Amino acid sequence: MDVELVQQAGTDAMVCRAARVSTLGKEFPEINDMKDRGLINFLMRDRHGSPFEHGIFTFRISAPIFVVREFMRHRAGMSYNEESGRYKELEPVFYVPSDKRPLVQVGKAGAYDFKMGTFGQWWTAEESMRTAYVTSWDMYQRMLAEGIAREVARSVLPVGTFSNFYVSCNPRSLMHLLSLRTKSHDATYKSFPQVEMQMVADQIEAEFKRLMPVTHEMFTKHGRVTP
Ligand SMILES: Cc1cc2nc3c(=O)[nH]c(=O)nc-3n(C[C@H](O)[C@H](O)[C@H](O)COP(=O)(O)OP(=O)(O)OC[C@H]3O[C@@H](n4cnc5c(N)ncnc54)[C@H](O)[C@@H]3O)c2cc1C
Repeated sequence: MDVELVQQAGTDAMVCRAARVSTLGKEFPEINDMKDRGLINFLMRDRHGSPFEHGIFTFRISAPIFVVREFMRHRAGMSYNEESGRYKELEPVFYVPSDKRPLVQVGKAGAYDFKMGTFGQWWTAEESMRTAYVTSWDMYQRMLAEGIAREVARSVLPVGTFSNFYVSCNPRSLMHLLSLRTKSHDATYKSFPQVEMQMVADQIEAEFKRLMPVTHEMFTKHGRVTP
């Protein structure tokens, strides 16, 4: 799972500037760390969300197709472009979980928990995936070699095949994604995301925290609820 921050515009100061137009009009507010922290705390607590829309993060993400599908369910404030399986030959890059990835699901839908598998389960998972990937890649290549169009041949490739895409979003839509795609004890509304989706979301969160530390702090303080 590879997440690269490509570009970014937007800061804690911009959130405050957008919010203060309410009372200051075109006046440019001075940066005041104490007041700015208080203002962002208030905006997050009372869910005044629109000042958090003045910013943009663009990420290039490399992830298995099953993660890309989950990611692209996020529509509001999100812009996407993805590698084409029609216009280019896909790469033989496939997902195999590490031995740290819990394999056994316990609990019920909506409140899943996972525990580590046995060595035998992990071996079966890895062996099954490798066999399926090698076979499907051979079939893909065989069809391409016979002149069959990429858009037809790709049908045999599994959802564990890696794809690349760009996503741009504003801080508010980013927080909405984090609220649903991370599992956190601090969250007011608990979510149970797929581990691989959370691996992507965690990397996005690290960049968000680095670039907008006060907004991130208040997001966490107020239960990771999207303002
Ligand atoms: C743990 C987990 C399990 C999931 N399981 C499934 C599953 O089994 N099957 C499945 O299909 N999906 C599943 N999803 C995807 C989920 O249903 C959402 O599509 C996804 O989380 C994006 O959320 P969203 O619609 O709030 O985000 P966005 O599309 O970014 O929308 C953000 C917000 O904008 C508003 N909004 C956006 N579009 C509309 C609209 N058309 N009408 C009204 N308001 C709108 C809503 O307030 C929404 O919350 C799962 C998600 C999670 C986190």
